Amino acid sequence: PVVLGIESTCDETAAAVVRGKTLLSNVVASSMEEHARYGGVIPEIASRAHAEAFVPVVSKAMKDSGLRLDDLDAIAVSAGPGLAGCLAVGVSGAKALAWTAKKPLYGINHVIGHIAVTQLQFGAFPNDTLALIVSGGHTSLLHVRDIARHVDVVGTTLDDAAGECFDKVARLLGFPYPGGPHIDRHAKLGNAGALKVPMGLTQGRSGQEHPYDFSFSGVKTAVARWVENRQACGADVPVDDVCASLADSVATVLAGKAMKACKRFDSGTLIVGGGFSANSQLRAKLSNEGEKHGIQVRIPELKLCTDNGAMVAVLGANLVEAGVDPSPEDFPINSSMPMDVISL
Ligand code: ATP
Ligand code: MG
Ligand code: FE
Repeated sequence: PVVLGIESTCDETAAAVVRGKTLLSNVVASSMEEHARYGGVIPEIASRAHAEAFVPVVSKAMKDSGLRLDDLDAIAVSAGPGLAGCLAVGVSGAKALAWTAKKPLYGINHVIGHIAVTQLQFGAFPNDTLALIVSGGHTSLLHVRDIARHVDVVGTTLDDAAGECFDKVARLLGFPYPGGPHIDRHAKLGNAGALKVPMGLTQGRSGQEHPYDFSFSGVKTAVARWVENRQACGADVPVDDVCASLADSVATVLAGKAMKACKRFDSGTLIVGGGFSANSQLRAKLSNEGEKHGIQVRIPELKLCTDNGAMVAVLGANLVEAGVDPSPEDFPINSSMPMDVISL
């Protein structure tokens, strides 16, 4: 099926057209630079930017695909999770477009899109596959029984997401928002054994050790305390070493628990998605561990890791192929959409 995907959950206004698992066009506009001086995304500014970019981005995605609206089998849009004002712009635009073009519309889960997008590079994935989702807002292990119909949450972070942890430490080190990529760059130059960063392990939700949950707020606090102690006694902060130690600790925990979950659910494949999957230390760790355990690790190329329209379009195509009903005309946005909801 030919599907137009529209994305506006945060600071990217994006649209893409796919035919099945083939990408025909992919257009991304970002309001990131407008937020950088505030040290984080300002929802009001992001919403306005979506309102300005929506039509130009969608029309360029259609033009680049060489198709007309009439050629589409369906339209898909991220209905959550994300910033409410941002979601409202994308969903309203998509509803208007679907209504005038008389096309079915799917309100989809952005997070599941981060998993679905790997199909553009690696093809369809087997049922009962394990997925690691790592982004600015989420860090979870999912059991994908059927990408169009059934996803279960196996484990999740009890506090900060991996990307959030990197962004917070980056801020402490004086890097501009978003700091994740800066930590990545400096980590390549440092010694990962320089400081002892606690592992983002957890005691689990109910007190006993839970093998598939994460906790990164202690990691952030430990690094912050170490840096502040150095600063207090007037010593230099070895930025590269701090970054390398942090990155190594986070990547080790994520890869370790992901492998454990693959074993537990008997999955020979690990799907990885979300903005943090752009992280070099995590990519290296996952591919090493995957090789060691005989698990095929599927990580998207960098431009498909961060938010884009292709992830929405390809999940939309999965839904059409599976014969899932389109969303009702009055479907809502859901800024905290649960991860086991695939479409509305
Ligand atoms: P969600 O998908 O959970 O709604 P989001 O869309 O805000 O959250 P993404 O855009 O998927 O998140 O990812 C952004 C996050 O990825 C930021 O925290 C950013 O710092 C982090 N990130 C991006 N590239 C890298 C990198 N190379 N190393 C570390 N972190 C990175
Ligand atoms: Mg973003
Ligand atoms: Fe995202």
